[in-house]
Amino acid sequence: VIDSAGLVTALNLGWRQFPFEEKLKAALDVPFFVENATRLFILAEQSFGVARGCPNSIYIEVGKGVGAGMVTEGHFMEVPGAAVHFGHITIDPNASDLCNCGKRGCLEAITSAPNIVRQYLEKLRQPKSSHTKLRLADVIERARRGEREANEVLDRAAAMLGLGISYLVALLHPEMIVVGGELVPGADVMVPRIQSVLERHVRDWMGPYKICVSGLGPDIGLTGASSLAFHAALNGSALLHRLCAPPRKTKRGSRASRALPSPLHPATKFQPARTGAIEPADVV
Ligand SMILES: [Zn+2]
Repeated sequence: VIDSAGLVTALNLGWRQFPFEEKLKAALDVPFFVENATRLFILAEQSFGVARGCPNSIYIEVGKGVGAGMVTEGHFMEVPGAAVHFGHITIDPNASDLCNCGKRGCLEAITSAPNIVRQYLEKLRQPKSSHTKLRLADVIERARRGEREANEVLDRAAAMLGLGISYLVALLHPEMIVVGGELVPGADVMVPRIQSVLERHVRDWMGPYKICVSGLGPDIGLTGASSLAFHAALNGSALLHRLCAPPRKTKRGSRASRALPSPLHPATKFQPARTGAIEPADVV
């Protein structure tokens, strides 16, 4: 979550109101944006991935945490922190799974990659310390081979994820749901399970939607970040002139280094970045 003062809370990184903007300002000599990763993921998918030409789409990230980036009618969701709050929906009020946020039963506490591995080891009654290298991909591979414990844990994760996504479908009517992160290599195992849960919880009249798997690879965050900067430069002549100007000799943390407001706010309809030469008409 990025608050109005630029303080970042990222529970999975151990950050609570960390002064990230101030730290970047001291280290960089260029203007910069601070933006939530999941919002950059859906931006990348809208610009270069499966969600191109799809103005109502959702990106679901399962990794260290669980997040959702959401775009409706080409506009990003109003609440900047909404992308990360998705993982902290109480998806099972009776669950004992403890989340990093301090609650029990959060979606992330059951379906993030480390928590799926944790539940698997608990099922095997093995201490986590003896399997520090075990990853979600390993649990998925064991499920593919038919191991019962692995399949039970993945069934529970898929049930909770599908339920969480069904809430977003009911609220936002997305045409496309893109799943990414550590679900990508396990899509053959996880997507059919999530799909079958969605079919139970989403009625036809909530609108047609399809589930796709992200194909942008591990650099999707960089792709989204570059798309954000490109979009901002094309739509802000002052920023474009600043970037095209000859380098100035400045001290670190000087006026050249400043956090810009993210262009991913609902007042701006996002136009996916185009490649090729920048024409004067592109700068509005
Ligand atoms: Zn939580």
